[in-house]
Amino acid sequence: MLTASASGPMAASVTARNLAGAPIAAEIKARVKADVAAFRKRNGYTPTLAVVLVGRDAPSAVYLQQILRTCKSVGIDGRLVEIPGRASAARLRNAIVALNEDPLVAGIIVQMPLPKRIPLTTVTGTLDPAKDIDGIQPINAGHLLLGHSGFLPTTAQAAIEILKRSGIPIAGRRAVVVGRSNVVGKPAALLLLRENATVTVCHSHTTDLGAHLRLADIVVVAAGKPGLITGEMLKRGAVVVDVGINVVGDRIVGDVDAGSVAAVASALTPVPGGVGPVTNALLMTHLVRAAEAQVRSESPGPRPRRPAVVGGRA
Ligand code: NAD
Repeated sequence: MLTASASGPMAASVTARNLAGAPIAAEIKARVKADVAAFRKRNGYTPTLAVVLVGRDAPSAVYLQQILRTCKSVGIDGRLVEIPGRASAARLRNAIVALNEDPLVAGIIVQMPLPKRIPLTTVTGTLDPAKDIDGIQPINAGHLLLGHSGFLPTTAQAAIEILKRSGIPIAGRRAVVVGRSNVVGKPAALLLLRENATVTVCHSHTTDLGAHLRLADIVVVAAGKPGLITGEMLKRGAVVVDVGINVVGDRIVGDVDAGSVAAVASALTPVPGGVGPVTNALLMTHLVRAAEAQVRSESPGPRPRRPAVVGGRA
């Protein structure tokens, strides 16, 4: 059960099941750890996840440190590549090309947002699709749209993975996704559709958000607006996945008003501790999958040479 922090008439009847991310993340990471050990034994080297940070955005740096810690916990080499905030788009492109060609690097993520001067296409147009383990470049986005296997955007995947691993039925149910970004909202909607939900996507131009939400059995919120969703906007018993991460004063909160929502919903992901840990754990599974595919040279696109390291770096 979630403990509602809000006071008021709804706080008295808290019912929502707490869909904590930690146990799911732990399960996924235990499996990845074993897979990494087996990979190392078979191939004689440890695959690397490169995380690229452009500039000194503090929240991004914190997020990347979490990823590097997760890498360490499962035996993956994490490599932080820092590029000065004033660097040109060409410099970022060159750094990505070097990582594309580095045989030890199995996966690359570039922290967003980029400085305004650097177009997103610098990243999406340069990343080798075989190393794009967060599914941001067009080939992987196309695979997602077509329902083919590719690298899924991990945050959206985490939202759906939490539902599936918590035994929440999706097929045939009405789902509303709030937010239509390329990284979370759109992919979450496509993944819910893949699971046979009937999906509505709401966004900043949606009029009467509550009218849509009140019909929803499943709500996935990724708007970046604290307190956007309140209990009175929901159908009783709805399942709510809160993807939002917002810093309010010295607290991190999601996009839902947890107190009033927990009183109406049947299940709710907490923030922090819901989608975030599962996202990082899934990223590790993508890294191992990328490394395996690269060793087998099955992936499309330009292939890096396999590292000539035998029993060396572990
Ligand atoms: P974004 O700013 O790119 O997109 C926000 C979306 O929300 C837009 O499509 C916009 O139309 C919609 N929106 C904004 N205000 C709205 C309103 N009043 N009503 C309805 N829709 C509205 O953000 P994003 O990158 O998709 O991230 C969304 C949130 O998810 C942020 O809080 C971000 O920090 C968080 N996030 C969490 C994780 C994680 O691992 N948990 C990962 C990525 C992003």
